[in-house]
Amino acid sequence: MVHHQHDESWYKSTWVHRAWFASGCTTVLISLAKSMLITISGAGASTTTPLTWLRLAFAVLLGYVLADLVSGVYHWAMDNYGSPETPVIGSIIYTFVDHHQHPMELNKCDTAALLYQAAGVATAVFLPVNICSNDPVLLAFVGVLSGFGIFNIKFHTWAHTPKRKLPPLVAALQDAGIIVPWSQHGAHHRPPLNTNYCSVSGICNRVLDKYKVFMAMEVVLFRVTGVRPRSWAEPDS
Ligand SMILES: [Zn+2]
Ligand SMILES: [Zn+2]
Repeated sequence: MVHHQHDESWYKSTWVHRAWFASGCTTVLISLAKSMLITISGAGASTTTPLTWLRLAFAVLLGYVLADLVSGVYHWAMDNYGSPETPVIGSIIYTFVDHHQHPMELNKCDTAALLYQAAGVATAVFLPVNICSNDPVLLAFVGVLSGFGIFNIKFHTWAHTPKRKLPPLVAALQDAGIIVPWSQHGAHHRPPLNTNYCSVSGICNRVLDKYKVFMAMEVVLFRVTGVRPRSWAEPDS
């Protein structure tokens, strides 16, 4: 990609970015707070039992793992299909393609400018759930999924940040394997450039790469539509 589609101000937050980012964070907080309040007060459809806590723990785990999986599928799709000229999402595709040529560019981006799109989607999809549902298990699932989903790209840029520049809590979360560290994400930037797409915790990468899930999806898409993914053009793929 020779031409640069972003102008110099693309990484500066605007008030629109901040508003969407705030609404996304509020959506997450409502999910988690409502789940907790209903659980503690026993005001849900069924009274709180030890089984409720078990189901809550499972919902949290599921939301966390699913956020990682969604981040991988999204990253894979943006890396491989469409072009910067694609309507609506062209500039997002450009950002992903450009990230492989200039991995440190994204680190310049203000947090709200980086995360507002995911925050906007999370608000549109999950705020209605928050308003309608009184199920603490569903609310916990939604809260964790949207929280890790919104911050996915921030985790990605943190994986590209030298450790000494990271906030200590972030470095500790990376060391604990709770969010993806460079030691894992770095493999995405090395040939054949078609592995380790997941960038929340990276825990789905091992399974997806071992069973070549994305490659299988690429072959199916090629057979059905005739479209080749960008990664096939890599010399080492
Ligand atoms: Zn990529
Ligand atoms: Zn990266």
